[in-house]
Amino acid sequence: MRRAIYPGSFDPVTLGHLNIIKRAAAMFDELIVCVSVNSAKPSGLFQPQERVELLRRVTEGLPNVRVDCWDGLVADYAKAHQARVLVKGLRAVSDYESEIQMAMLNTKLYSRLDTVFLYTRPKYAYLSSTVVKEMARYGADLSDFVPRQIIEDVKQKVNSTQERM
Ligand code: ADP
Repeated sequence: MRRAIYPGSFDPVTLGHLNIIKRAAAMFDELIVCVSVNSAKPSGLFQPQERVELLRRVTEGLPNVRVDCWDGLVADYAKAHQARVLVKGLRAVSDYESEIQMAMLNTKLYSRLDTVFLYTRPKYAYLSSTVVKEMARYGADLSDFVPRQIIEDVKQKVNSTQERM
């Protein structure tokens, strides 16, 4: 069984992420999308469990995709789940430097682990979860940014956090 892991913050999942998920799911027997709680970005818009729920909703029609959450090292997660491949998406050269460093570090931590990079489709090259949050704060139309099933969730979450500010 060829199992791969696609780790990330997914705060929230975007159309760019979903595109990578679909393409990776077509390449491997099983893809685990893993919400990894990043020590560099400890608090996000959505709680990790909420991100998992949004991801589950948008990947419902993809039978070989599982969604999980992990707050430790991705390399440890991969070892525990007998996965030897990490999937990462690349948008621009600026992603490349940190992603290559992370890939090397992960192989250092678990020597059987390799990272494959899928380049973004150009129409998603500008898209990040940060862009989505910023656009939602200004009330922009989110339909080109996030899957339609989660548009209302993003709007509501952003509005409720603004009320508390
Ligand atoms: P971000 O907050 O920048 O969206 P994530 O940690 O959620 O970052 O991203 C997880 C993975 O998805 C990373 O490998 C990242 O490079 C990739 N990714 C993020 N956005 C896109 C996109 N628009 N197209 C392709 N890959 C992407």
